[in-house]
Order: sequence, then structure tokens, then C-alpha cells
Amino acid sequence: MIPIAIPLLEREEADAAREAVLSGWVSQGPQVAAFEREFATLVGAPHACAVSNCTTALHVALIAANIGPGDEVITVSHSFIATANCIRYCGAIPVFVDIDPATYNIDPALAADAITPRTRAIVLVHQMGMPCDLGSLVSLAKRHGLILIEDAACAAGSEIRFNGHWERIGKPHGDIACFSFHPRKVITTGEGGMLTTSNPEFDRKFRLLRQHGMSVPDTVRHGSSQVIFEDYLMVGFNYRMTDIQAAVGRKQLERLPELLSRRRTLASRYAQLLGNLRNLRLPNEPDWARSNWQSYCVGLPERVDQRAVMQSLLDQGIATRRGIMCAHRELVYSNGGPHQDLRQSEHAQDHSILLPIYAQMDEHDQSRVADALRAHL
Ligand SMILES: *Cc1c(COP(=O)(O)O)cnc(C)c1O
Repeated sequence: MIPIAIPLLEREEADAAREAVLSGWVSQGPQVAAFEREFATLVGAPHACAVSNCTTALHVALIAANIGPGDEVITVSHSFIATANCIRYCGAIPVFVDIDPATYNIDPALAADAITPRTRAIVLVHQMGMPCDLGSLVSLAKRHGLILIEDAACAAGSEIRFNGHWERIGKPHGDIACFSFHPRKVITTGEGGMLTTSNPEFDRKFRLLRQHGMSVPDTVRHGSSQVIFEDYLMVGFNYRMTDIQAAVGRKQLERLPELLSRRRTLASRYAQLLGNLRNLRLPNEPDWARSNWQSYCVGLPERVDQRAVMQSLLDQGIATRRGIMCAHRELVYSNGGPHQDLRQSEHAQDHSILLPIYAQMDEHDQSRVADALRAHL
């Protein structure tokens, strides 16, 4: 069986988790602090704050930015449902705009059209690790005084050429970027998330919100020779990452360069193997973007039935997934929130499939995937 994805976790991660367990400090502590420093350095961010997953990261980001009931937040429907749910958690209204079918990412011109006097923020998504057109979106947000939050769940390691320099997603280019370390992403801690920002006030709020609004973290009380009483400064949450997860994450960060280079090799080999298939649409990497290839998505020819091609590959032991979901087609978003015509989002969900891609994939298995797809088409 060729799976859709497998995380690369080996001896190093297992040993790191073991050491964290035996250290006696297993909740948020020194490993989390070190993981935050190392992640911040990796992406070039002044501040990084670890949380329990990317869904909680997005929730914390929106609260820190004071998004609340009645506010409109522009985003895409064409994303994992957590993107829209986080806006709802705050009582705000997700306003869905369509994607650019070439990149599966938010179309900046359509985002501009959706701005109303109630719009407070844009949550963009670097879908499947492919960077959004940040140049356009950053200036759009500035022009209208909107908070720009990057759902970078899939985009650890992705890069963008910004003002003439190659920079990592998460620097951040918007106000806040949110990452996921779920096993389906490029690096994993089992469950885990990270917020990055250049704004020290946002970072201070993230740290309060992830730990019940507590003024003094446990590590500080633990290390102090003075008795310290904490205060509770806001209604916070328990969104902490554990030290066991962070210890695994630090090992995954060391592996990231190798993982990226392997995925980039596989992506360019898919392009070679599938490039001559008529009407199959390969992913488009703009010349200002370098994807981490979290997923490899191909657009099917119009006449081809998505379910039939997926079943045919599954019968040959090859797992695929359909195109990214559309939140507005799910029950919880179906009764009429504001949105534009989402034709490209729906088309992408119905007429694309994700092919297996993971660092351990060898050329033989990759050829099997390409051959099976070619034979079906
Ligand atoms: C995976 C994913 C999330 C949710 O991440 P979790 O860490 O599982 O909470 C949010 N947004 C996008 C675009 C994702 O792909």
C-alpha cells in the first residue's frame, strides 16, 4: 500500500520524547521555550509562541487581534474547516471569497471586492504549503487598516520572494502566522501549533491566552527563590503544548532541510512523470514562491470522474485524497453566510486529487503512482 503521507519520525524523536518524560517536566516548560526559540530563528520571526495545535493558534490570533461578534473576516471556503471555525469561535462572520485556480490560494482582487465597513481582518491560507500572493495581500490589508493573519498550517519551510529577498513563511509578512504540527503536515509533534509575530504586544497576549490568562508561567514560579502569587488577567484557555511534544518538534526542525529537499525532488519528478499527460493540470509554483510540497495536487481533465480515478488507484494499493474541502458546502456553513460566487473553489474540490508525497517515498513507488494515473486517464 502506498499511503497519502507518513511522518518521518525515527530514533532521534523517540529518544527526545523519552528524555523529556524522564526529566520530570512534561507540560509546557524548557523544551517548549527552546522549540519556540529555534522555530523563531528558522522562520526569521522576532517572536514564536507554541500552542496545542493550529486551530487553537488561529483562535488565539483572532482574540489577540480583538476580533469579536459582528466583525467580518475575509477568508477562503476552500480550506480545512478549522480556518472558518476559528472565526466563528469569536462570534465573527467568515466572508468567503474564491480562489485563484492556478494556485488554489485566495485571489487578492476578490478579497478586495469583499471588503465592507465591518471588515476587520483577512485570514489567508498558504494552501498545501504554496505561499499566497503576500505582496498584494499585505498592501491590501495596510490600505484598509485590516489585520492580516496567515493560516500557515501546511507551510513550515515554504519561502517567498518578498521585496527582493527570499524569506520563510512565518517571518511573518502579515501580522500573525499560525502553523500546525499535525502528522499530515511536513513536520509533526503529534498535535501542536505555533504562532509567530513581530508585535511584542500580540506575543504577550498569546502567552496569556494559552494559559488561562495567568500572569506568571509555572516555569517562573518553579525557578523563583521568592514566593510568587499569580494573577488572572483575562479569560484564557488551556492551549498549552507539552514538553514531550516540543522535544520531538526540536528534532523535526533539525530534519526540516532534508525533508524539504526530498519533497522538492519528488515534486519535480512528478512534474516530469506527469507533464505529458493531456489536460492534467500540474501545481503551479509562481516564480516568487517555493512550496514545501506538503501536498501534491493535480487537476483532472473535465471528462474524468474524480471518485472513479481515486477508486482505480486505491484498487492498485495507492491512497489519494480529493481536492481541498469547501466549508460553505458543509452543513454548519450552508445556511447563507455572506459569500461570493465560489465556482473555482467548488471546481477545485470536485476536479482535483492529491497524490501521495512523503520523504520516505522512493522512485519506484512514485512511478507506480504516475503509471496508475496515466493508465486510468
Ligand atoms: C491542518 C490545518 C489546520 C488545523 O491544524 P491543526 O493543527 O490540526 O489544528 C488549519 N488550517 C489548515 C489550512 C490546515 O491544513
